[in-house]
Amino acid sequence: MPAYAAGLNPAQQEAVLTTEGPVLVLAGAGTGKTSALTARLAHIVQSGRAWPSQILAVTFTNKAAREMRERIAKLVGPSSEGMAWLGTFHAMAAKMLRRHAELVGLHSNFTILDTDDQLRVIKQLLQAEGIDDKRWPNRQFAALLDRWKNRGLTPADLQAGDDDGFAHGKGLALYQLYQDRLRTLNACDFGDLLLHMLVIFRTHREVLADYQQRFRYILVDEYQDTNAAQYLWLRLLAQERKNIAVVGDDDQSIYSWRGAEVANILRFERDFPGAKVIRLEQNYRSTPHILGAASGLIANNGERLGKTLWTEAEAGEKVRVIGVWDGPEEARRVGEEIEQLQRIGVSPDTIAILVRASFQTREFEERFIHIGVPYKVIGGFRFYERAEIRDAIAYLRLINQPADDLAFERIVNTPKRGLGDKAMASVHRIARDQRVPLLAAAAMIGQSDEGTPQARRSLAGFAQSVARWRDQASAVNHATLAQIVLDESGYTAMLQADKSSEAAGRLENLQELVRAMEEYETLDEFLEHVSLVMDNEAASDEPKVTIMTVHAAKGLEFGHVFLAGWEDGLFPSQRALDEGGLRSLEEERRLAYVAITRARERCTILHAANRRVYGQWQSAIPSRFIAELPPEHVEQENTMGGGESLWRANWSTVSDPFADVGRGTGRGPGWQRASQTAYDPAPKRIVEARGSAVSLGNKGRSDLAIGMRIFHEKFGYGLIQDIEGNKLEVEFETAGAKRVLDSFVTIA
Ligand code: ATP
Ligand code: MG
Repeated sequence: MPAYAAGLNPAQQEAVLTTEGPVLVLAGAGTGKTSALTARLAHIVQSGRAWPSQILAVTFTNKAAREMRERIAKLVGPSSEGMAWLGTFHAMAAKMLRRHAELVGLHSNFTILDTDDQLRVIKQLLQAEGIDDKRWPNRQFAALLDRWKNRGLTPADLQAGDDDGFAHGKGLALYQLYQDRLRTLNACDFGDLLLHMLVIFRTHREVLADYQQRFRYILVDEYQDTNAAQYLWLRLLAQERKNIAVVGDDDQSIYSWRGAEVANILRFERDFPGAKVIRLEQNYRSTPHILGAASGLIANNGERLGKTLWTEAEAGEKVRVIGVWDGPEEARRVGEEIEQLQRIGVSPDTIAILVRASFQTREFEERFIHIGVPYKVIGGFRFYERAEIRDAIAYLRLINQPADDLAFERIVNTPKRGLGDKAMASVHRIARDQRVPLLAAAAMIGQSDEGTPQARRSLAGFAQSVARWRDQASAVNHATLAQIVLDESGYTAMLQADKSSEAAGRLENLQELVRAMEEYETLDEFLEHVSLVMDNEAASDEPKVTIMTVHAAKGLEFGHVFLAGWEDGLFPSQRALDEGGLRSLEEERRLAYVAITRARERCTILHAANRRVYGQWQSAIPSRFIAELPPEHVEQENTMGGGESLWRANWSTVSDPFADVGRGTGRGPGWQRASQTAYDPAPKRIVEARGSAVSLGNKGRSDLAIGMRIFHEKFGYGLIQDIEGNKLEVEFETAGAKRVLDSFVTIA
């Protein structure tokens, strides 16, 4: 038995040693899929079955590729060098396309457009074609392109009517024009990397044959998150030798919004008949309580292949669920716990805070800076380094200090005010000649006959706005001022017009910024704080606590994991709740499963009773996922106001614990949208919720009973026939007998 396989269990060894033929490893979190895949790679190289350059190994992120490279180097030493084809789908496809670019009319030095570049091209194209971007937003067309490309569809593969009626059925023709335009620019977008390769494989069989010969073995991690184009690419490459091993977990499919299709797992066995399917059931990562909680949660999903998981680990601690008063208290509490862990010798780099939405990181970052806990934000920028936050702060700096030329330069044309290089050059020239700041120069140009009338109007308008905001600064509170500036500058509108999911996140971040400002007395004090925070980059080799989104944490593990903001409307997200479909809720639940299973020893879930969203205090109810955790694996602690009072709420019968203080609306998923009166967090009231005390095992809604008449959004009125956990058997008046989730019904 080679050393790299010795420590593996028999099922893993089978995955390592079955080198020939198709292999599908289908197994739950932490069962050693990635470990087995890495050992397999080592085995192929070590046993001389192939050179490193003859193996294609695909990972989901660059970080995962780096880790795998390191692990292989450890396992087989120098012979791991030359792993030329280890990386993400994008990286691998880009590398291939460079070698054959001319076959699709590009040069090998083609540019890869980022999302902003892509939008610019789309905008020019739609404008040139006379398409009204208000009626047909650029983003919508970008999303359409994305969808086609994720599915591996070129314009030639599409038929009239496949474009959702975009621009009255012109979508398809626009797709062709867009592709032509990119070719003229010697550029391609992300989707093209794979799409062009698929076209080349189809039209130049010799190129495909060459790669089929070269890649003796193909390995794919996180297979559940491949999209159709990626799948087609893999299938073509593997068709000849059929030595393809993929590992995945249907319960961890969390990228369907980016076109991933979990059905690829099912299709694998069909496309590669005789595939060996290996199931790994022993989990090596987490304690039984963590595993039990995660398994109990995911069991609520209907669409799954199902699997058993067990562990030999010591029982360990139960998963803790902690209810706190609000966001700041959540951060304080996590900070205290981390300090405690540090005192008993736990290294910060085995601790992670996982959030659902990126705006949630700020509260933690500021707390950690305050108490001196070193941290890093993975898969995104630290809060104050994000582009939209820097833009907003540049506006505030300029208002505070009109001579701040750096701030002026950052935002004078953001959002776009039609100022080109020429206009900016005159601003700089006047500023130099007159020895005045750029803002003053802009105002001067506005009054002169310098440059084009449009540039003059723009500069004058901008200078006037800044002057107006300066006047207002003395009259209104600085957080209000920030909101006014964001709105009047057109910044908010710019993001609102942007239909992408990133734009929604940016708006959330800006609201979080406005919220953060309220904690400071003056604008000066706030800006001072920001410059200190920006300066706080911890020394790079020091171990740090990780803050990241759950999406970015896939495949990783940490000793101690804090899962923040488990509230309906945040996790599951409001978007998933608004869409209302079971599918999006199930995807959120898979995300929650990924979150819990990142933990090795200790998993702590937090939820706050009050959350500031879009600048408004809203009472929040604990995430429905919390009630789905099996009670035997959970320990609950609900403290309000530092533990001086106990807050108990049966979220399933009462979701309005604040009704007695004039806040909140009735029951309903998500944020209590109507409860938008400002509230003073200072007086912490003891609120006894109506109904029975919380019982995590109480999956059913205690106010529902057999025989009761209910209303379901989709199926209408019906009578409850049976109740099993959170599922109801209902005889609907028109839709007939159906099984539905209790959270989707109201008592009629
Ligand atoms: P995920 O689904 O989260 O991607 P995974 O199935 O890829 O998880 P790994 O990351 O490979 O799981 O392994 C989880 C942990 O278990 C790692 O710490 C790994 O070192 C350990 N592990 C894997 N196999 C074994 C084994 N046979 N014996 C002991 N520990 C193992
Ligand atoms: Mg893995």
